[in-house]
Amino acid sequence: MSSTGDYPRMIDPDLAVQLVLDVVGGPEAEVLALEEAVGRVLAQDARADRDYPPFRRAMMDGFAVCSSDAGQTVEVIGELAAGDPPRFEVTPGRCVAILTGAACPPGADAVVPLENVVREANRVRLPSVVPGGAHVAAMGSECPAGTVLFQPGQVITPLVVAVLATWGLTQVRVWRLPRLQIVSTGSELIPCHQTPSPWQIRNSNGPMLAAMAQKMGLARPAVRHVPDCLDAIVQALDEAHEADFVLLSGGVSAGTYDLVPKAVAAWGGRIVFHKVSQKPGKPLLVAVRGRQVVFGLPGNPLACHLGFDRYVGPAIRQRLGRPPLAQPCAGILASPVRWKGGRTFFLLARAQAADSASAPWSVEPLSGISSADLFTPSRANCYIRLPPGQGELAPGTRIPFTWIGTLE
Ligand code: AMP
Ligand code: MG
Repeated sequence: MSSTGDYPRMIDPDLAVQLVLDVVGGPEAEVLALEEAVGRVLAQDARADRDYPPFRRAMMDGFAVCSSDAGQTVEVIGELAAGDPPRFEVTPGRCVAILTGAACPPGADAVVPLENVVREANRVRLPSVVPGGAHVAAMGSECPAGTVLFQPGQVITPLVVAVLATWGLTQVRVWRLPRLQIVSTGSELIPCHQTPSPWQIRNSNGPMLAAMAQKMGLARPAVRHVPDCLDAIVQALDEAHEADFVLLSGGVSAGTYDLVPKAVAAWGGRIVFHKVSQKPGKPLLVAVRGRQVVFGLPGNPLACHLGFDRYVGPAIRQRLGRPPLAQPCAGILASPVRWKGGRTFFLLARAQAADSASAPWSVEPLSGISSADLFTPSRANCYIRLPPGQGELAPGTRIPFTWIGTLE
């Protein structure tokens, strides 16, 4: 098999996403304490172990009465607040003062709000009509015991945490976070907190990729840097044995010191594809060894960003058990774009709310002149996708766009 596997030529960007998702595999479960679980996806059914409300709950401050006493003056035999056991028995001619959230005492079948009675010492005159069940939430009326509260795939939001807490589900089975190892390759790179010599550049891909992973809810990935040296790259791959995904940046194109394809093969990785018909980021490489997936992302920062957003992001989502993402939004182009190339062009852009009702988003293309330009495109919040040979698009053209972090 050649180093490019079954796909010796540049492959289509949509096929590339599909191939990534095919090799990434499904999510794996782990059990977490509820306090650790926000943002995760449930990998189990969650069932109600008891009725809710669990007792006949007073919904107003007032008096728990027999509804048959409507129009009568009845004796107040005591008071029940939220948290009190319902220690009185209500019989005709007698009632109990009750506060919102308290359990209704046996015998009472309605609550009459405070403002609807006339109080005389320890007696109250009830209104002429008291509907049975008024202002009492019946046991299990919101959710009976045994109800399936959530199914696998449910994202654990703070409201979901509240429901799980209500039913005492303090240990939950969720899909575990994939572990990432980031390896920046390049002999020209130094850590960004050091002072570079004039011929060196600071490593920005490492911090960017780590930030993108963290933004998706992953733990801070392990980050390291190696020079353009075959053995050093192979060793970094060997040492990444705990990672589900290894993200290499740089060294993946055809230059003398682009050693990533060779290193991945020497390490024993099967190359799924190498080169995608896209701009930026044509030399993208994806390989697998066992359950580990290696992404060889191009070194140019914009190509590296696209590689994560479009290929690594969906792989992470699949391992998180997250549902597929929404379709592109519709925008209006704010300035012209021109694309005559034979690849698909993913152009960074900034979408801003527009005044027009028919076109809620105005989209300003921001990509720099080359994929090494970073400053102008760093204001981007979305991508525009231009098909091969698109030609010129005038301002005002309707155009689909995809928010960064949702590109698929
Ligand atoms: P490469 O893909 O290794 O040919 O890298 C292409 C260009 O991207 C290099 O000339 C570097 O200027 C730049 N580059 C590579 N890696 C990084 C990095 N980690 N951080 C910032 N720039 C990088
Ligand atoms: Mg390089």
